Amino acid sequence: MRQSPIFLQPVFQERIWGGEALRQHFGYPIPSTRTGECWAISAHPAGESTVRGGQYAGLTLGQLWSEHRYLFGNAEGERFPLLVKLIDAQTDLSVQVHPDDAYAARYEGGQSGKTEGWYVLACQEGSEIVYGHTCKDQDEVRRLVAAGEWKRLLGRVAVQPGQWFEVPSGVLHALGAGLLVYEVQQNSDLTYRLYDYDRLDADGQPRQLHLEQALANISMLPLPLRKSPEKLEQQGVCIVTLIENRYFGLQKWAIQGGADLAQPAAYLLVSVIAGQGQIQTRSGIFCFQQGDHLILPTEAAQQFSVQGDSEWLVALPPNAQTKTQGCTNMSLCQ
Ligand code: ZN
Repeated sequence: MRQSPIFLQPVFQERIWGGEALRQHFGYPIPSTRTGECWAISAHPAGESTVRGGQYAGLTLGQLWSEHRYLFGNAEGERFPLLVKLIDAQTDLSVQVHPDDAYAARYEGGQSGKTEGWYVLACQEGSEIVYGHTCKDQDEVRRLVAAGEWKRLLGRVAVQPGQWFEVPSGVLHALGAGLLVYEVQQNSDLTYRLYDYDRLDADGQPRQLHLEQALANISMLPLPLRKSPEKLEQQGVCIVTLIENRYFGLQKWAIQGGADLAQPAAYLLVSVIAGQGQIQTRSGIFCFQQGDHLILPTEAAQQFSVQGDSEWLVALPPNAQTKTQGCTNMSLCQ
């Protein structure tokens, strides 16, 4: 049996800071006016994607991973390693930090840590993120937190659509109001809230903070360097590598007209953020459109072609970030 692209049904999550942008932008059937997250490619038990059609229809991604590992190049690991989300932040998210693998393994019963990467799909004018802090050591962080000196503590960055940010475990961060973001992250739900703007939830209660865990995990290392990204262009496609770390790679693909591609990765996690078209693999022709999320399994990734104008965000699994290979000459984009 040939390996076909695996289209996934996302899971929507209500959040107090969510809104309706996921319907407005992507046409998704969101469950409420406070829809904060679309878990697009997820094997996490808090919201698992299911296969939309084809021979694996109805299986969860977790089942695919445990029962059909050949689709993923027989990659190792008990759990599917990544989680892809779209996030609609109508209001500010809490200021938070995620643990690394070592802390999570020691204190959180075997879950993985969480390094994440963001790509800004859309934002209102003046939107910001919290990214890092201003302190030189832990003592200074503790002093400013105790004094509630949030303005002095938090690093703030103005953002534009098309920007991306790598958020390693330990980096203090928060999405600001008015942002629509694609996120790829380690498959983990461990979040320690440091500050929630003193907001109350629907029951009039402040949301739980995790001060000690947050303080224990805030990194004093510098933020990741922002290198200019590597770009590869071949006929019909320009591929820009935005993030590469030990947990995932993130690329943006701009497809114009059509392209023949050969990706030696064990599998690719594809999110179509604009446009539509068709993917042709040895198993057939498959239509896609904006808002679709799919996995290209090993065999399909190794040789496929795409028709139609579209933009993709492509997450690459750990240890599989081999260079893109085209079927024609490649040159650097301008
Ligand atoms: Zn986070």
